[in-house]
Amino acid sequence: MSASTPSPSGGPLVEGPQDPEHEPGATYALEPEYVASLTRRVRATTGGTDPVYSPLDGAPLAHVPQSTEGDVAEAFERARRAQQAWARTGLEERAAMLLRLHDLVLERQDEIADMVVRESGKARKHAFDEILHVALTARYYARTAHDHLAPQRRLGVIPGLTRVEVNRVPKGVVGIISPWNYPFTLALCDGLPALLAGNAVVTKPDAQTMLSALLGAQLLEEAGFPTELWQVVAGPGSVVGTAIVERADYVCFTGSTATGRIIAHGCAERLIGCSLELGGKNPMLVLRDADLERAAEGAVRATFSNAGQLCVSIERIFVADQVYDRFVERLVARTEAMTLGATLDWDNDMGSLISQQQLEAVTHHVDEAVAKGARVLAGGKARPDLGPYFYEPTILEGVTPDMACFQDETFGPVVSLYRFHDEADAVARANEGEYGLNASIYSKNGTRARAIARHVKAGTVNINEAFAATFASVDAPMGGMRQSGLGRRQGAEGIHRYTETQSVATQRLLRFAPVLGMSDEGYAKVMTANLRLMKKLGRA
Ligand code: NAD
Repeated sequence: MSASTPSPSGGPLVEGPQDPEHEPGATYALEPEYVASLTRRVRATTGGTDPVYSPLDGAPLAHVPQSTEGDVAEAFERARRAQQAWARTGLEERAAMLLRLHDLVLERQDEIADMVVRESGKARKHAFDEILHVALTARYYARTAHDHLAPQRRLGVIPGLTRVEVNRVPKGVVGIISPWNYPFTLALCDGLPALLAGNAVVTKPDAQTMLSALLGAQLLEEAGFPTELWQVVAGPGSVVGTAIVERADYVCFTGSTATGRIIAHGCAERLIGCSLELGGKNPMLVLRDADLERAAEGAVRATFSNAGQLCVSIERIFVADQVYDRFVERLVARTEAMTLGATLDWDNDMGSLISQQQLEAVTHHVDEAVAKGARVLAGGKARPDLGPYFYEPTILEGVTPDMACFQDETFGPVVSLYRFHDEADAVARANEGEYGLNASIYSKNGTRARAIARHVKAGTVNINEAFAATFASVDAPMGGMRQSGLGRRQGAEGIHRYTETQSVATQRLLRFAPVLGMSDEGYAKVMTANLRLMKKLGRA
């Protein structure tokens, strides 16, 4: 594992140590005016602020205004007013704004990547994944919303006489609570279909990555979306997040399973819907006929993208006995060749963890496993020489059920390897535990791999890929089974969740009551005969 030296890139951001009085020693400092243009978007009135630090060097990047419960209430009032007008805006006009956002995100990708790398500490190529995902999602919904939202004809009870249409009407104001790991796309992408379906949004991004989310809000405004339609609030989840759950018409949450449960309780109390995108302990299966070079390359991306702080990242790899040694040799070689570093350029394969808390969690998982007998095949230690929260990409062997990293989500650059003898056993072991988010299968036989996929308890399964094939195929629903979530993002499901269905039936001629002096008993006989006839005719 080699290290690269800092070489910040250009854009409107300040390079090198600046303004020592304002940000002492900050290598990744931002222009104060640039920061102010973003932070002014937070709905906050008290003047209190909270710092955001760069994990690359631990120095503060900005001081973000903090919202009170009253500010959240104000955000909802404004969002509700804006939504009334927005619901009357034509779908074509809304979609055109989304296509402008697509173009803006691609044009301003350097600025976005600079911000995401500074704020999250990830490698630039992983920041680019966020840009890609926002552009893909914007284009997809702009081009398909008309079909997803168009009124649908359904079967009427009396053919020819009962005409039924199902409308999709907006829920109103959607609350979006997002995490820090993909701070640009997870703050934006779930909101795009909500807007397109005619809703307003109140969003609370994670406190550690507010600036990337605020840059997203700025781009939405530049794309033409009314400012008041997208409200941003900031503060602790237990206060500001709760205030959102207490007011929203629907909540879209991405984060840990533990917080997801709290959100679900709050939504159940108010009888509002929610989608929960939660954690995972995702397995990869390398079958005996796998292309081992391809599997090893995929495994590195699967486990170490964003230093493993990715909900769909692979933390367990089950390898067929016949190819185990050859696969492991390739995986270790590729892992040891990775470049780590705290820079804004494209040179790094992996960046930093986000925080001291993450570093401690990852260190605990590895140290505990090693103390109980696991073997480290690569990595296995922190790298304070690179930055305060760097940890090496780590491969473990000999992990057993008594170790925390056997079933608990590490959410870091740590993967465990297991041998298997027969595929049914591998699937059973992959299905152990409480999660069911993502899985990956490597095999040269696509048909067999797809048949195996049906037995894997995961909301997405990637064959001969790690996670990107499903995540980037935004027409397909994405989300978790079991404790990994509730509901789905992306595809028709990702926009329909933000709508209420409304069935409108128009009845002609016949009424649902006796006619022409018919008795109730006579009516029942006619209806019974009708039901029998309909069945004979094969009607649904
Ligand atoms: P987290 O649950 O601690 O925080 C997520 C968000 O919830 C933050 O904005 C936080 O402020 C807020 N929050 C915290 N407590 C709250 C409360 N009581 N009420 C309302 N909001 C509250 O999660 P995290 O550690 O920041 O994120 C990492 C987790 O997210 C991992 O488990 C990861 O797997 C998961 N994740 C899932 C997906 C997915 O699509 N399934 C995507 C990314 C991350």
